Amino acid sequence: MEYISWDKTIQTFGDMDCSPTTKFGGHLPTPPQAHLNPEAETILSISTTFFSNAHHRAQPPDIALLSTDSVHFYVHSDVLLKASNNQFRGIIQPKFSEPVLAVPESSSVLNVLLHAIYEFSCAHYAPPFDTLVDAVEALPVYGVDVKSTIKPSTPLFNLLLSHAPLFPFQLYALAAQHDLFDLAVPTSSHLLAVPLSRLTDELAERMGAVYLKRLLFLHSGRTEALKRILGAAPHPHPPTANCDFPAQKSVGRAWALATAYLMWDIRPDLSTRTLDSALRPLGEHLACEDCKNALGKRVRNLVVEWSMVKVRFLYHRFSSSDYA
Ligand SMILES: [Zn+2]
Repeated sequence: MEYISWDKTIQTFGDMDCSPTTKFGGHLPTPPQAHLNPEAETILSISTTFFSNAHHRAQPPDIALLSTDSVHFYVHSDVLLKASNNQFRGIIQPKFSEPVLAVPESSSVLNVLLHAIYEFSCAHYAPPFDTLVDAVEALPVYGVDVKSTIKPSTPLFNLLLSHAPLFPFQLYALAAQHDLFDLAVPTSSHLLAVPLSRLTDELAERMGAVYLKRLLFLHSGRTEALKRILGAAPHPHPPTANCDFPAQKSVGRAWALATAYLMWDIRPDLSTRTLDSALRPLGEHLACEDCKNALGKRVRNLVVEWSMVKVRFLYHRFSSSDYA
């Protein structure tokens, strides 16, 4: 590969701003014709990660990508060509002669895109969720495989997942669109807290039939599981002089009332604490110690059962080939 001396080309454009603390938003635009007139006073906007002297590899960068908002990113053509199956949208041609190549993306999207290809974290730029989505959508356009770029070990995977609490449906839809199962599963735990009524037509369409079905089964599956484990009342104890079987029926009735109240507003993200605080006070009205013990044991078991109904388990169960 032929390497370019940026000192003799790009750096003659004008002052460079390579400060790692410089943000993209503050950059001034670089006139496209600036290189034609080295005498002109020009401010060149340059990526704070991908600048010409950055030591990301042993070799210096051999091309500069120019975003639509005129920020330069100095990168290695071989890295991009290796990651891309379409010569980076056909932009990097063999034996390119022009070291500065225009890319039809904003600097914020191109920044995420290049970080993903180099497997660098761009978390310190705190890109908004929409920018991350745009970057993910851009990956296939530039011939970059989405699945291998967004997998559990990659920085972009972790950055996307950090947005799951605020954008659960949107992130799940993004994962669904690209069949990123490993991203969909941890995202789905955040979906349980959001009523399905907030699911828009557009999001449902983006999820596609299979992932939408998984989401519905996840919600209904946990709800059904909760109904099932709430169902059985505490076991009656052997009759005693003070508490025979008919007397113990009051425990069953109280249990039925309390669980009916819980099921009235049942939510798949119901916490174990809510369960415990709704059912344990039933014992306060019981005079029989044996009944109290039976109730306490039932509540403890229920809380343990509910905590064991893991999202991942259900998700796998309902997304298996038996259900798909
Ligand atoms: Zn009793």
